[in-house]
Amino acid sequence: MATPLLRLRNIRKQYSQGDAFLEVLKGVDVDIYAGEFVAIMGASGSGKSTLMNILGCLDRPSSGTYEFAGQEVSHLKDDELAWLRREAFGFVFQSYHLIAASNASENVEIPAVYAGLPAAKRRERAQQLLTRLGLGDRLYHTPSELSGGQQQRVSIARALMNGGSIILADEPTGALDSQSSQEVMVLLSELADEGHTVILITHDAQVAQHAERVIEFKDGMIINDTGHNKNKQTPLPPKLLNLKSAASSKSVSVLVESLEAISMALRSLKENWFRTVLTLLGIVIGVGSVVAMLAIGQGAKDDVLERFSSMGTNLLVVQPGADRFARRSADGGMTSLLPEDVPVLAQLANVKAAVPESTTGVTARAGGLDTTTRVNATSADYPMLRDWLPQEGVFFSHEDNDRYAAVAVIGQSVARELFPQGGPVGEFVLLNNIPFQILGVMSEQGATPWGQDADDIIFIPLSTGSLRVSGNRYVDRITVAVFDTASIEQTEEALRQALVQQHNGNEDFRVRNMASIVASATAANNTLTILLGSIAAISLLVGGIGVMNIMLVSVTERTREVGIRMATGARTRNILQQFLVEAVVVSILGGIIGVLGGLGVAALIGAWLMPVTFSIPIMVLAFACAAGTGLVFGFTPALKAARLDPVIALSS
Ligand code: ADP
Ligand code: MG
Repeated sequence: MATPLLRLRNIRKQYSQGDAFLEVLKGVDVDIYAGEFVAIMGASGSGKSTLMNILGCLDRPSSGTYEFAGQEVSHLKDDELAWLRREAFGFVFQSYHLIAASNASENVEIPAVYAGLPAAKRRERAQQLLTRLGLGDRLYHTPSELSGGQQQRVSIARALMNGGSIILADEPTGALDSQSSQEVMVLLSELADEGHTVILITHDAQVAQHAERVIEFKDGMIINDTGHNKNKQTPLPPKLLNLKSAASSKSVSVLVESLEAISMALRSLKENWFRTVLTLLGIVIGVGSVVAMLAIGQGAKDDVLERFSSMGTNLLVVQPGADRFARRSADGGMTSLLPEDVPVLAQLANVKAAVPESTTGVTARAGGLDTTTRVNATSADYPMLRDWLPQEGVFFSHEDNDRYAAVAVIGQSVARELFPQGGPVGEFVLLNNIPFQILGVMSEQGATPWGQDADDIIFIPLSTGSLRVSGNRYVDRITVAVFDTASIEQTEEALRQALVQQHNGNEDFRVRNMASIVASATAANNTLTILLGSIAAISLLVGGIGVMNIMLVSVTERTREVGIRMATGARTRNILQQFLVEAVVVSILGGIIGVLGGLGVAALIGAWLMPVTFSIPIMVLAFACAAGTGLVFGFTPALKAARLDPVIALSS
């Protein structure tokens, strides 16, 4: 006696219903041999579909043993069960279970996709099968464009795609008119004649007549069985004999599988384009803002650094105040630095020049025009210190300072305001109603590191300034230039000591070197960059949550599709991959658009508003974040889909 292909012993299936158990299968014993055409017949609700789901490894029995070609099925792993569904069984359902968005040919191809057949081959085979079943002119119709009978023939073609050794047909004619039913039954009979094992489930005695063997089923039990025709001995199909090794053999390369998953993801994203656009938008905004914000932050930082470093790194700045010795003048200014301090500093070793500055706001008038500007009372060394020379005329001299001369050198902005026709040199400008003769006009400087207009300024001698403009002798700042930058720290210390002595032991001033000034400016800008970056990161996070949300909806919506794919042999990892790849494809697409969009916005801002710096690492980072977002936030939904139980997914 040959080994049965399928051997069931005492198979039971219970469903819990609240506190009670509903026993649907009450101990089924049956042997089905290779090549048989068996009809399982019984009333509706008698448990036939439940039995078929167990036979087809879509469901597991509550108890009992089920052997497939001598192998106990309950010992098989998920991938081995998927292999059986893919390579051994072909399902034909009452409601066809075709994927609505795919055309006839694509539906038929699905089992071969999971079996790893190359695209051209499986298309050819799908079209051969469809042509053979009379659908040669309907290859590219979607299920909704086909009649019930045609859809059922598509599902039969799908069942045959990977060979369909065992065809499990659950009420295949249940939804068809008599003409189509007749055609489907003829087809199943033909397949049985060709050597396929056909298990047909029906409640209709007439339909059951087509089979060679009829098993009558009632209330979860077999009540009659016409039995196996012992004269008909078909050997077990060889490929099903050692399913363990076949199922574990790696027939599909990771690359092919990934490409397949990507093309599937692209198709499904295209089908749900509106949803895709919404998801994309979240990622695009997130990535775009990361790129734009960081470009702006970096740009601001670089700009400040550049302006400071253009001022020179050989400078020490002495400012009044800083501690409890600081005194304040009536107008709130610090009063600890005086003009007498300047020569003390100038005569120190390594000091090239010490330049005092005292700035006052004034209204300057000339020829009926006026402008509000700043007066910088300073020394004749200022141009040398700043490396900033007059463009026309000359700067004032030390003699001008010594004799309290009412002379001025004006910046380009002041020149434009007061002398629109040009030619200011030699003219007079009124500062606080005192006429100052203009000796020169400075060259154009642009913005200061603090973002002010450096050219909106008037230079006058320090002595004249304190006497005639500010009315006090206090110096706002003394800038010291050194010869040797390497020993600037020693010079700074010497300077501090000299000045403390000059100030009768009070350290009522601050000394800062350019390096520390740049460092604090950079720190302020770093804070800005981090702030902007975190706002952007939050929007990327929101985008990621959007991806997750939409993927979860998508999984819920496509539960039945997942069931169909599992029934046609998809492994857990295929489903996981499909949804994960969808999430990552959306995110990467969003990442690309986001990086480009962010660059565009930053470029516009750079052209009109403020400096920006593009950095490749930041773009790569933003892009990687997008892809990572897809992976992280797509994983939960993908896992949810992959963990679905095939029967439950199918019946959703
Ligand atoms: P048939 O295919 O013979 O009409 P089924 O196998 O579909 O019968 O169902 C048999 C019985 O099991 C029915 O009473 C049905 O309500 C019940 N049943 C089927 N699936 C479930 C389930 N997932 N949970 C609870 N009861 C179920
Ligand atoms: Mg049923």
